[in-house]
Amino acid sequence: MFTVGIDVGSVTTKAVLLNGREWRHVVRPTGCSPRQAGLEAFESLLGEAGLAQGDVSSVIGTGYGRISLSFIDKAVTEITCHARGAHHLLAGADMVVDIGGQDSKVILTDGRGGVVNFAMNDKCAAGTGRFLEVIATALGADVSELADLARGAEPVNISSMCTVFAESEVISLLAQGMDKGRIIAGIHRSVACRVAAMAERLGKGERIIFTGGVAKNDGVREFLSRELGRETVVAPESQLAGALGAALLAREKPVRKEG
Ligand code: ADP
Repeated sequence: MFTVGIDVGSVTTKAVLLNGREWRHVVRPTGCSPRQAGLEAFESLLGEAGLAQGDVSSVIGTGYGRISLSFIDKAVTEITCHARGAHHLLAGADMVVDIGGQDSKVILTDGRGGVVNFAMNDKCAAGTGRFLEVIATALGADVSELADLARGAEPVNISSMCTVFAESEVISLLAQGMDKGRIIAGIHRSVACRVAAMAERLGKGERIIFTGGVAKNDGVREFLSRELGRETVVAPESQLAGALGAALLAREKPVRKEG
């Protein structure tokens, strides 16, 4: 039985094809058309597996662009899908910290993939991947290089909470000759502190998984663990948690659109 989960995020679109214990995925930029990105991810996933749409028993869409997908059987919120996917990546996880391109969220779960409570920031870029992208550009680096550039550096204090002001602050610090690594470490700590504060308002997690594209940044993960006072686990497939959860839910609660 093949099922598919598609997570159309603000920055990347992720699609997972599930068959028994095996799964494969594609990730591509969402660009300016979530609809097109979702469809292309779906077609490329099926193409790579040598399947036709009729071979798939159920497709669930999630992420901010889910409503634009006409070929899915059902749309499910990111919160539900992330909780389910995270549990698959880390059995028994009771807290999911997800930092994506334009939002961050913390989900308390029942340890079996079900949602107990959640908090979300989708109003302010600080504490999201976008913040890191803006700062990386100001420093002439790519987001994928930030963790290495900051490794072992003492974080400088970043006082601005707002992305635009933080960018100016970073440019001033550079002009004053401040070490790049220390600035980046400060930025990592600032992102981690914002998200940890949101987590703490929600409750305590014992088994925490860090998901979303920003989970690839080991510097943010380290500060997050420090702020939460618990190790946060990053699975190699952490960016795929939402799409994986959608594919799992499509298998567990199959739906098929009429017509
Ligand atoms: P969304 O689901 O909102 O589209 P993602 O969960 O895919 O977002 O996360 C996108 C963010 O992940 C980017 O804004 C960027 O900050 C971060 N990111 C992506 N790739 C990497 C990488 N290789 N290293 C560090 N950070 C990354």
